[in-house]
Amino acid sequence: MLAISNLTKRFGDNTVLEGIDLSLAEGEIVAIIGPSGTGKSTLLRCINFLETPTEGQIEIDGHRVNADSSNQKAIIELRKRAAFVFQNYALFANKTAQENIAEGLITVWKQPKSEAMATAASILTDIGLIDRKDAYPSSLSGGQQQRIGIGRAMAAHSKVILFDEPTSALDPEWVDEVLGLIKTLAERKQTMIIVTHEMQFAREIADRVVFMEGGRIVEQGPPSQLFETPQDPRTKQFLARAL
Ligand code: ADP
Ligand code: MG
Repeated sequence: MLAISNLTKRFGDNTVLEGIDLSLAEGEIVAIIGPSGTGKSTLLRCINFLETPTEGQIEIDGHRVNADSSNQKAIIELRKRAAFVFQNYALFANKTAQENIAEGLITVWKQPKSEAMATAASILTDIGLIDRKDAYPSSLSGGQQQRIGIGRAMAAHSKVILFDEPTSALDPEWVDEVLGLIKTLAERKQTMIIVTHEMQFAREIADRVVFMEGGRIVEQGPPSQLFETPQDPRTKQFLARAL
């Protein structure tokens, strides 16, 4: 359903990703782990062209875009298929919870405002925040803000949701409610890629864990295999520090 082929990303002469191949089946949940500065965020951002890849191609649900594409329409179509959940929520400060969820439906999906606001209300009910629909981000807890960030990703019914360390900016007291919501999506078989340093969570939720270092995929496998019998010395060393 999702195929990343031979993806390379350079910033100037700094090669951040090199020859990444990664495919996901419908409903599959992949966790990406690895040291910081290793290209995990850049990989996620390249999947929906928040960063333009240098080489390679991305295909989601039969819609393929090459790295050198300057076809904005094709890029927008790709973005409709892959929703992003940011580390720092990235909500609009001057919009309410409901408006934040409705915004993409209006601007990207060209839905009438009334329809988008109705969808946003049903999402807010689903994620347990309908009573905060008129609240602005500054009056919401970090956990609530990130649940809105996830609600925004849910609203578009994208083929895949990309999570970039969704709990790493949160105070510890809010982590569980956000992980709980992601687990709910997993139970619904939402296809997703989650970059995380929550190893226990990755182990519980993922069908497959990918270990990245230095812009490459070093090793991947089912969580039990990757966590219990890692093969590559770099994976072993990382896990020895992280677990
Ligand atoms: P990770 O998410 O694994 O911590 P990143 O993808 O954020 O790693 O970063 C990988 C490398 O790419 C780092 O060396 C970082 O400095 C570099 N990098 C990321 N974004 C940019 C950018 N916009 N311009 C230049 N270098 C960048
Ligand atoms: Mg990162």
